[in-house]
Amino acid sequence: MTDDYAGGRLTIDLGALQSNWRTLSAISPASECAAVVKANAYGIGTAQAARALAEAGATTFFVAHPSEAKAVREASSDAVIYVLNGLAPGACGALAAIRARPVLGSREEIDEWTAFVKATGADEAAAIHIDTGMLRLGLGPDEAQELLPRGLGFRPSLLMSHLACADEPERPETEAQRAAFVELQRLLPETPASLSNSAGTLLPKTSGGDLGFDLRRPGVSLYGSMPVAGRPSPLKPVVRLDARVIQVREAPSGATVGYGGAERLKRPTRLAILSLGYADGVFRAGGSEDGAPGATAFAGDAPCPFVGRISMDLIAVDVTGAGEVKRGDWVEILGDHVGVDALAGACGTIGYEVLTSLGRRFARSYVG
Ligand SMILES: *Cc1c(COP(=O)(O)O)cnc(C)c1O
Repeated sequence: MTDDYAGGRLTIDLGALQSNWRTLSAISPASECAAVVKANAYGIGTAQAARALAEAGATTFFVAHPSEAKAVREASSDAVIYVLNGLAPGACGALAAIRARPVLGSREEIDEWTAFVKATGADEAAAIHIDTGMLRLGLGPDEAQELLPRGLGFRPSLLMSHLACADEPERPETEAQRAAFVELQRLLPETPASLSNSAGTLLPKTSGGDLGFDLRRPGVSLYGSMPVAGRPSPLKPVVRLDARVIQVREAPSGATVGYGGAERLKRPTRLAILSLGYADGVFRAGGSEDGAPGATAFAGDAPCPFVGRISMDLIAVDVTGAGEVKRGDWVEILGDHVGVDALAGACGTIGYEVLTSLGRRFARSYVG
């Protein structure tokens, strides 16, 4: 799709991505800073992100699926790649072929990888995931106590667990998880350990100790979203989204705008109609209705509130106070004035969902 016709221009700043990785890396210099690039690198593009992060100095990458591991391998021949969603039945060969390491979190997965390594004679490293209080993936503590001391038929290259509540610093669960993890680490004392996501990287200490261990696994923060609410963000925005104005019209006081007539204008209003909508990842919950404002776009430095419901391909914004706005202009949806977390907040969701929902029909460009 060329820039000439797209309804939205998505600009991805790989220099800001690299800068964020360096910032996060420097918070706990003794602990390696990996990069989580699952879900198409949180929407920005796996290959581009992996190449930029490798250039900045990242050597360890986490993805969710083998297909994503393949994209990272193509971007970097020497990256260490872990597959967080583990081992699908029969997938050992496919992972070994691209030198990706599964994160093994159940007895079945451990048995299957052990049998594969035995059968092929390969020295295939893998991570072990233990569950310290999230009940998602990973060996339960009892299972870990039973399985790990027996020794494994392959090289465990990482022992990891995942934090459930680290984005809410007052919660006691993070320290409980840290303490449980330290306890279970004794089962594989020689193996490097990893506990922190972005929140644990940005707030690296609990009352009981450090969350850094040997390796940290930030994801969303690399892409400019601050997962810990109410704290100043040290991160740079990575994603900019501008929408094309396709019509400007005057509307009288008392008229309603868009489907369902959800918002009735309280004064004569100049509306700009933008060529993007919920099909592009601008969530319907960001629309407005009477008494409930929605998200805000910006024309230059002037705020332009969303008016009425968001359509599949169109959004109306109020440009009455925005100076001259005309057909063919571009209006900021995400950028210097509206961060990923601000748009997420106006849509009742989180930065993760905004990033990973970014539309597929924008004109995309990479800078920096
Ligand atoms: C997604 C994920 C991360 C990264 O989390 P962020 O909150 O995006 O930093 C780290 N570890 C695991 C196991 C994950 O699933």
